[in-house]
Amino acid sequence: MARRNILTKEEPGLYKNCRPVTDFNPRLHQLLDDMRETLSQENGVGLAAPQVGVLRRAVIVLETNVPEGEEEYIIELVNPEIIESDGEQYGAEGCLSVPGEYGLVRRPMHVRVRAQDRNGEYFEVEGEGLTARCFCHEIDHLNGIVFTSKCERMLTEEELESGKFNE
Ligand code: ZN
Repeated sequence: MARRNILTKEEPGLYKNCRPVTDFNPRLHQLLDDMRETLSQENGVGLAAPQVGVLRRAVIVLETNVPEGEEEYIIELVNPEIIESDGEQYGAEGCLSVPGEYGLVRRPMHVRVRAQDRNGEYFEVEGEGLTARCFCHEIDHLNGIVFTSKCERMLTEEELESGKFNE
C-alpha cells in the first residue's frame, strides 16, 4: 500500500463527473488499498477516488458507529448509489481536499446505499449520523461536487477555535 497525493480544491479534476468502475481487477484493488493507506495517514473519515486523481466511482468511508471496545472499520463502495434517505442533520463538515476549512452543511440523518464491493458483488449498507454525512459527502465527490458549494456558510476561525457555532 502506498500513500497517494490528495488533490486540493483548485484542481479541475475535483469538479468532474466520474465514470463507473467496470473492471474489478488488481488495479482497482491497488487503488482501494492506497486510498485506505492515505485515509489512515491523514486521519480522515472518508475519501473518494477523484481526490487522488482517479475519475472513477469508488469511495471509502470509515464506519465510526461501532459498539464500545470494537474497532472502527473501512467500508469500500464501488459505483455507490443512495437508495433511501431520511431525517436531517445540520452541522460542520470538512474535506481533506479543503484543508483547514469547515462549513455548515445540511444532510440526511440516515441513508441506505447500494454499491459493489471490490470484486463486483452488490451489497447494501446503512449509515447513521456521521456515517450518513460521510456517504453523502463522498458520493457528491463522484459527481464533481465539493462540500463548499453546498454549505450554507463557512465557519469562522473563532467558531473553529471555540467549537461553537450558531445556526
Ligand atoms: Zn471531501
